[in-house]
Amino acid sequence: MEKYAIAAIPGDGIGNEVVPAAMRILDVVAEIHGGIQWEWTSFPWSCQYYLQHGMMMPSEGIDILRSFDQIFLGAVGMPNLVPDHISLWGLLIRIRRELEQSINLRPARLLKGLRSPLLHPADFDLVVIRENSEGEYTEIGGRMKKGEDEIVVQNAVFTRKATERAMRYAFEQAKKRRNQVTSATKSNGISHSMPFWDEVFREVSTDYPQVTTSSQHIDALTAFLITRPHDLDVIVASNLFGDILTDVGAAIMGSIGIAPAANLNVDRKYPSMFEPVHGSAPDIAGQGIANPLGQIWTGKLMLDFLGYEEMGTLLLEAIEFTLQSGIKTPDLHGKATTEEVTTAIIEYLQKTC
Ligand code: ATP
Ligand code: MG
Repeated sequence: MEKYAIAAIPGDGIGNEVVPAAMRILDVVAEIHGGIQWEWTSFPWSCQYYLQHGMMMPSEGIDILRSFDQIFLGAVGMPNLVPDHISLWGLLIRIRRELEQSINLRPARLLKGLRSPLLHPADFDLVVIRENSEGEYTEIGGRMKKGEDEIVVQNAVFTRKATERAMRYAFEQAKKRRNQVTSATKSNGISHSMPFWDEVFREVSTDYPQVTTSSQHIDALTAFLITRPHDLDVIVASNLFGDILTDVGAAIMGSIGIAPAANLNVDRKYPSMFEPVHGSAPDIAGQGIANPLGQIWTGKLMLDFLGYEEMGTLLLEAIEFTLQSGIKTPDLHGKATTEEVTTAIIEYLQKTC
């Protein structure tokens, strides 16, 4: 029996609804497999925690997390009470950086049983590899002067190490998929970081002669994602560009509520963190109608990362079966509740296995 210690951080808003749902399903998957056991420990770290303690997580929080195998996170954010930069830098970005989760992997594909909002959707199945540790998201910069003369400077940081790591990971993924990598650039407008990004992309690509490559400016690539998503396989992008592209990816899948993501420590030195693309959705929190599929599909990414791909495939099959049966939450134009979707998936798993 392989035992995995998992730190569960439901966070705020709908995180508290979708994380328990996905944990129940992962427990059923483990039972069916017979050789896996999850040892869950839940932590209340969130904006709610911040309001009581003045910080998003205790100061020894990172050390505590380091002792776990993986982290399963919902979403943090309470935009009305806690400024977004506090919840982001105090928990999410802190965990991603201190645990060196330098790769953000975000698949986007059209599931069976779902209609894309695109006019003429063809099947698409792509994955965005987003550099997760640096780039445009930095705290370097500042404000100068006041009033009419005010100037604000925000610096971006691109290291060769992190850039190359993201690109190599993208090429490795492409080898297991359809051998195609598209790089998101903007070297016609950004004069230092993006030409460097293109240079590293060209260098890394020479080690993968079997992989077809293309470089697209982020504006064109965003449009491409809407008009021809079926032509894309693996996209490699900087932190900001990857963030934007994956929200578009989620939208063309049908709802941000189903989009999965993983923050990977590729060397497996520290735990990785599995966290869906969506946020805490305060507008629908507490109503029992949050779509749990993003969190559940994120659980599949955890299974894949741990080497249980066959269980991951089974879980995706259960998701597609539920969608094809019309059991959908309101964001997918259905009437089902979080609980109904969760139960339907559990029933499918128990019936099939
Ligand atoms: P963040 O800053 O954390 O990315 P956000 O403000 O961009 O958060 P979300 O919290 O993801 O946004 O919500 C965006 C919209 O999508 C909201 O209208 C929300 O209700 C909806 N939404 C997000 N996740 C889900 C879900 N799992 N099920 C249903 N609707 C969702
Ligand atoms: Mg967002």
